[in-house]
Amino acid sequence: MRVTRILAVAVLSAALLFTRFAADGPAGGPAAPPASTLIPGSLSLGTPAAAAPLQTQGPRAPQDTPVNKTSFTQTLRAGPGDTLSGMLTGAGIPRTEALGAIAALSKHYDPHRIKPGQEFTVTFQPGPGGVAPGRFLGLTLTPDFKRLITVTRTEDGRFRASTVKKSLTRRLARASGTIKQSLFDAGTRAGLPVSVLIEMIRAYSWDVDFQRDIYPGDSFEIMFERFHDERGTVVHSGRIVFIALTLSGTRRALYRHTTGDGQTDYFDEKGQSARKALLRTPIDGARLSSSFGRRRHPVLGYTRMHRGLDFRAPPGTPIYAAGKGIVEYVGRNGAFGRYVRIRHNSTYSTAYAHMRRFAKGLGKGKRVEQGQIIGYVGSSGRSTGPHLHYEILRGGRQINPLTVTMPAGRRLKGWEMSRFRYAMSKIKRQFADLAIDLAVAGGSE
Ligand SMILES: [Zn+2]
Repeated sequence: MRVTRILAVAVLSAALLFTRFAADGPAGGPAAPPASTLIPGSLSLGTPAAAAPLQTQGPRAPQDTPVNKTSFTQTLRAGPGDTLSGMLTGAGIPRTEALGAIAALSKHYDPHRIKPGQEFTVTFQPGPGGVAPGRFLGLTLTPDFKRLITVTRTEDGRFRASTVKKSLTRRLARASGTIKQSLFDAGTRAGLPVSVLIEMIRAYSWDVDFQRDIYPGDSFEIMFERFHDERGTVVHSGRIVFIALTLSGTRRALYRHTTGDGQTDYFDEKGQSARKALLRTPIDGARLSSSFGRRRHPVLGYTRMHRGLDFRAPPGTPIYAAGKGIVEYVGRNGAFGRYVRIRHNSTYSTAYAHMRRFAKGLGKGKRVEQGQIIGYVGSSGRSTGPHLHYEILRGGRQINPLTVTMPAGRRLKGWEMSRFRYAMSKIKRQFADLAIDLAVAGGSE
């Protein structure tokens, strides 16, 4: 746990003023105490971080501290395995008070699900003489970019929590770039935040092999959401609304769209989902170590047909269902070791071999969704080391997952297609109306 001690008069007050001014108001739960007695004037509405320019970096040694401060604050940052009660008591807060604050907080935020890096700002009254933290007053946190949660001590000594939704403005930003080395590199040069780049790569990963299909001179155009606070500062980059990747002169545009049944996906102009029915690579971060075709068998020593793909990966790496389907086989299967087969439709199934273990609850006849974890990489059966052996079967026969034309995912029809056409024309207009955003190009995030 990293502890930064900051002397501040503004943070807690800012949080309370914020409660009063935020248009959305507290989202459930008791409201924060009235802010009428607090300092007037324009304060930053938002997170303790947004209020940072108002704070004075205080001296670390208490004896150097001026004696007339109205409150002391400390920022606690969670490390791996930290508990909130441990962090609070570690900051000198008596255990019963820490537990009281946590109990109040738990109606708004699950204190058991703290992610490393989450910050908590705790506030104290000045102690005797005003030179050191005294009575614990409360804490604030921003669990995500939209919310500020405040826990305050009330007159009767109990704790109350409230959530305030920040008033943010959603705006669209446009950027483009030409590829010199890789899409990732071009996106970085164009100032795209990593989260947007990852989403862009995911959206195309069904169709584009990023190692083989991209050449210098290829380009991209993109429009994505950004959320601005009241000062106009970008506090969060949201989803991609439109992307077009031009590869070897062919432009592939994708539009983000939510269908009538509430499913959001990227679709091309014909209403075809970018998502395919089956994944070519049902594992993350693995290296293809053996392709489909004739090869010298590493264990048996003679040449034979290899009817799948091998992905080398550390033992325990999760393996995903390549598509939605029904589990047809789970268990030991000779040289395949621990083996799973999923039937996707009357034509296609996929098989996964040499697992270390199966996912909990996986059983014959169970339904699985695309991307659901079905097991973990191991070396069971006849295997030289931890890897996934993956097969796609068409009509019961193995085919090469790398070259097969993937069975297509959803295609919009009829009324759904009309809705999509309307949404697409709106997106095209928005894109045309936007100038390329220099703030994106400047890479201010
Ligand atoms: Zn294999």
